[in-house]
Amino acid sequence: MSRRLEQTRISRRLEQTQFIPDEPPNVTGFLNQLQGKKERLVKLKRTPKMLKSSIQPIAWLNRQCLLGQTRAFHFTRRNDVPPIIWVVVRPIANIIAILAGRGLRKWWQKLAPSQQQKFWQLLKSRWYLVGGGIALVPAGGVIYYISHLEESPITERKRFIAFTHEQFMSICEFEAKALQETYKEVTLLDETSQAVRQVMRVKDRLCHANKDLAQMVEHNWTVTVVKSPEQNAFVLPTGQIFVFTGLLDFVTNDDQLAVVLGHEMAHALLSHGAEKMSFSQLVDLFIIGAMAAIWLFIPFDGIALITQWFYKKVTKLLLHMPYDRNMEKEADKVGINLMAKACYDVREAVRFWTMMDIAQEKDGENVAEFLSTHPSSRNRAEYFDHIMPRLLDLREVCKCPKLPPLDPRMLAKSERITSDSVRTANIARQNLRQVVKVPDDYQPK
Ligand SMILES: [Zn+2]
Repeated sequence: MSRRLEQTRISRRLEQTQFIPDEPPNVTGFLNQLQGKKERLVKLKRTPKMLKSSIQPIAWLNRQCLLGQTRAFHFTRRNDVPPIIWVVVRPIANIIAILAGRGLRKWWQKLAPSQQQKFWQLLKSRWYLVGGGIALVPAGGVIYYISHLEESPITERKRFIAFTHEQFMSICEFEAKALQETYKEVTLLDETSQAVRQVMRVKDRLCHANKDLAQMVEHNWTVTVVKSPEQNAFVLPTGQIFVFTGLLDFVTNDDQLAVVLGHEMAHALLSHGAEKMSFSQLVDLFIIGAMAAIWLFIPFDGIALITQWFYKKVTKLLLHMPYDRNMEKEADKVGINLMAKACYDVREAVRFWTMMDIAQEKDGENVAEFLSTHPSSRNRAEYFDHIMPRLLDLREVCKCPKLPPLDPRMLAKSERITSDSVRTANIARQNLRQVVKVPDDYQPK
């Protein structure tokens, strides 16, 4: 292997540690490997300070702040089907699959038993053609799937992406313009307003502290604040950040806003939009095949219709929802890292999600849109509390100023206790109302 290739390989290895995993990696093993590469690492023209720090036991944390470059995230150029075509083709393909399956079944039912027998014999005599034809479909599907697997930026998870970056971005730009038009009818706040300045301030700090991530630099982050009581915020894959004033009224400081923005920006950094759309396309292909099979093999139209409805529900429950939840968890992990590197008070994440959980309990089903996918707020608060020691270590490595002595997690705890007490008291009051009220002047005989 040439020296240049070797250097690229080592450089790549270092760059691959941009994300704190759930558990710290095997530091001893990592150090042994790193020590072996020490001489070659010097040739990478990195600063001696960085090299020294990279072989400390907390090396896996240090590189969060010290690495100056990352591997750029590129979609490979392929002859993919543009997503907009799929949007049009999908319903038509669904109808064709149903009609083809149903038509074939009706044709078969009309055949006389002798003709059916004859047809079976013909199929048996041409078994290699039939078998080959049937095998081609899954084989083609597997090749299509494997050839479209890509590595997720930052977390390096393997995933299926069906579109080119350009195709997806052109759709998102179209969506962004449509959203701007939609919200013009509500009220978009002026750039000089306090709300916009708050969001800009948090956005800039997150961007600046995480500029070692190529994806952060590649995005053109813009801020739009919508005057609406909705407790919502989202970021388009193109980098347009939309925040509603309802959310700004809800958060008590910039740290809590950074929890939301970090999470939403992580979705954009990780290209979750393209991934979700690709996954839906993949599931749709399965559904189209299944639709044809349902209408072909189920002898009655009514039962076929119920089976189709049931199948779609099951697909949503078993495929789409778990997939969405995993992306949410990934955005949580990356988002909190962005926040820690920007020296925000990461403990506020626990308080924010506790506050959100309490608000959700009060509002019943009135849940903010960006929370509409799992995991639950309570689970999120517990998760952030669980990984807090590592996040605090990361802040330390990034030479962040000391945190205030009042721990927001203590406030969260007391708010939780108060909320639980009020809820218990309300339930008790409701139960008491059901008991027959005894008049104050009642005298037993
Ligand atoms: Zn999310």
